[in-house]
Amino acid sequence: MPSTPAFPGGTILGYPRIGRRRELKRALEAHWSGRTSAAELAETLAALRLATARHLVALGLDAGDGSVPGSFSPYDHVLDAAVLLGIEPADRYFAAARGDATRPPLEMTKWFDTNYHYLVPEIGPGTPVSFADDAPVRWFTEAAQPADGGAPVVTRPVVVGPVTFLLLATAAPGAPEGFRPLDRLDDVVTAYGELLAALGAAGAPWVQLDEPALVADTATAGLAPGELAAAVERAYGSLTAVAGRPQILVAAPYGDLRTGDDDLLAVLAASDVEAIAVDLVRGEAPSRPVPGLATTTLVAGLIDGHNIWRADLAAHLDQAAALAATTGAGAVTVGTSTSLLHVPHDVDDETWDGTDGRDPRLAAWLAFADQKVTEVVTLANGLRHGADAVGAQLAAASAALADRAAAAGVVVPAVRDRAAALGDDDATRAPYAERAAAQADRLRLPALPTTTIGSFPQTPQIRAARNAWARGAATDAEYRTAMRDEIAAVITLQEELGLDVLVHGEPERNDMVQYFAEQLDGFAVTAGGWVQSYGSRCVRPPILWGDVSRPAPMTVEWTSYAQSLTTRPVKGMLTGPVTILAWSFVRDDLPLADVAAQVALALRDEVGDLTAAGTAVVQVDEPALRELLPLRRADQPAYLAWSVRAFRVATGGAGPDVQVHTHLCYSDFGEVIDAIDGLDADVTSLEAARSRMEIVPELHEAGYARGIGPGVWDIHSPRVPTTAEVTEQLTLAVRAVDPALVWANPDCGLKTRGYEETTASLRNLVAAAHAVRATL
Ligand code: GLN
Ligand code: ZN
Repeated sequence: MPSTPAFPGGTILGYPRIGRRRELKRALEAHWSGRTSAAELAETLAALRLATARHLVALGLDAGDGSVPGSFSPYDHVLDAAVLLGIEPADRYFAAARGDATRPPLEMTKWFDTNYHYLVPEIGPGTPVSFADDAPVRWFTEAAQPADGGAPVVTRPVVVGPVTFLLLATAAPGAPEGFRPLDRLDDVVTAYGELLAALGAAGAPWVQLDEPALVADTATAGLAPGELAAAVERAYGSLTAVAGRPQILVAAPYGDLRTGDDDLLAVLAASDVEAIAVDLVRGEAPSRPVPGLATTTLVAGLIDGHNIWRADLAAHLDQAAALAATTGAGAVTVGTSTSLLHVPHDVDDETWDGTDGRDPRLAAWLAFADQKVTEVVTLANGLRHGADAVGAQLAAASAALADRAAAAGVVVPAVRDRAAALGDDDATRAPYAERAAAQADRLRLPALPTTTIGSFPQTPQIRAARNAWARGAATDAEYRTAMRDEIAAVITLQEELGLDVLVHGEPERNDMVQYFAEQLDGFAVTAGGWVQSYGSRCVRPPILWGDVSRPAPMTVEWTSYAQSLTTRPVKGMLTGPVTILAWSFVRDDLPLADVAAQVALALRDEVGDLTAAGTAVVQVDEPALRELLPLRRADQPAYLAWSVRAFRVATGGAGPDVQVHTHLCYSDFGEVIDAIDGLDADVTSLEAARSRMEIVPELHEAGYARGIGPGVWDIHSPRVPTTAEVTEQLTLAVRAVDPALVWANPDCGLKTRGYEETTASLRNLVAAAHAVRATL
């Protein structure tokens, strides 16, 4: 056991990696396009790492004791762990991430309940595993002994923990039935042990192993009772026995360590790890002493790493100060609940003078990554020196919170009253049989109707037109003409192709959530609040800060224009309440269910205006329905109840002759299959091409008996499906359910595609639908 100083006074579990000016994105893209060499890329990334470490010291984290996390990744931290273990070769890093001529990319999926996506490692019984890449050691040394001769920083390397790594991995193709990645725990732990020894030899006082899978029933489904606890005990028993290792901080962000089948906080406390970071935003602090914790430092994750609101520092300091006594922890320090990966860099990077429409009041209410570091430092100082030592900071935080609570727009009585008055009637449409008859009568569609999911290719010209307008370089009239011309072209194309239910193509939408956030009251959007979604991809989530309502119609003009050009039905396209919440930063002073109801009412108004204008088909997309599913099984029913209800409120005002569609993106639908039925949409389109239509019988068996549009081709690749392929997919679908329920459509929107492949693919889709129609 090393005899090193006690755990640092305050820390964050990780910091954004993309760079405050998106330097990582630019460096990666320059390299991928061949403009820079691997060596040049490596140099840029090293500079970014060092600048980040020094920036965190400037913000107040200790430079010498491991308070500064070394949480960088060139693309993804799970891929980094796979490389560390030799499962993916280091020199083919970006090929694993993005695919190339010789291999497809690793599958990508959501990181717990965040909007970050990680690459799913593949491991089989015979996959060689070893300590194959010492990047964490090199990165530690690079900051501790900087080549530029500048100020050194002793960082705390951050690596995905061995148990989480294996729980997130998938069995490699060809692995025998029954093999589970967790079966390789001992080999993986051996390799991690070598990493720890190397870090110790390099002088690292601490290492952080991230084990979020321990708080997520969604990651541990299929394990036998007690199996997870045994794996944790075994892994950390071995790792703590490694000679010359750094002290170990096990971090368990995104939920509560104690609410699963096993009390994993107790298991970790009983181990010899020196510190445990718990998420006290999502989880609760133990109210009784935990055996074993007396020799452990508890890192109290009080500052929300997952959201952007300024914290109640006075309350948090009280809570932190009481924790040692209530939990029996040997020491308590303050941290973020999760990595700050999920929030933008700095509130001060935005302009707050009101000139660009951003409400200046928000500046004082928000805390992005840098503000959160400062909050952590304040709390740590308060713990160490007493509340009086940080009195001014506590008072400023309390004042900002009071200002926010009382500000106009945060509570709008008319919105609250309307949401409170909602009853079951508002969430209930006419019986499906009645709706189906009325819609058949009104729409007169053929069997196996053809349609698309909404967006058509967003060409450089469309983006240029939108950007010019946003910058003020194009007049409203010029912008409107450009969008109308695009809509007209998309309608003409769809008529030529022979599609049955048309769309306007969504050219006016920068993003399917931001477009609505910009028009709803209660939302703000940032200019530079970028957050990494995956690799080089960033998103700019809107901020939902107040009660939500719709001052004016948002989509009616475009949809009505499109409808005026054709006699075929044009779908009105809306983004659903759950997806709007999932892809925004949402206020933390009102239950999500209540916020969802407000958004649902705003959408209900839009559905009302669309249908009043003659729209016969309305699609409300909920691609994120599965995304917000709570990680703990016990929390899932309540979520599914309010999310389904929000959709039904949004669409519940539509008359029987209005056909309501919904669309869900690819995900593991199993846990939400009843909820999909519960939405009560007339037609549900889903991504299904990659799973050979399996979703069709699954939905059928779950009792779903309304329209279904299983995506017949994967739009995520430019490949054009042949008519034969689409025919085969459609044939599978019409054999699995009543053919009268089946629709033919791609599996998602076409905005990322080019026109050439889109046109060819849709042509084949229509031909296939005709062919299968003829067999019915
Ligand atoms: N209507 C949207 C589109 O076509 C749906 C996008 C999505 O499912 N993510 O782009
Ligand atoms: Zn989709």
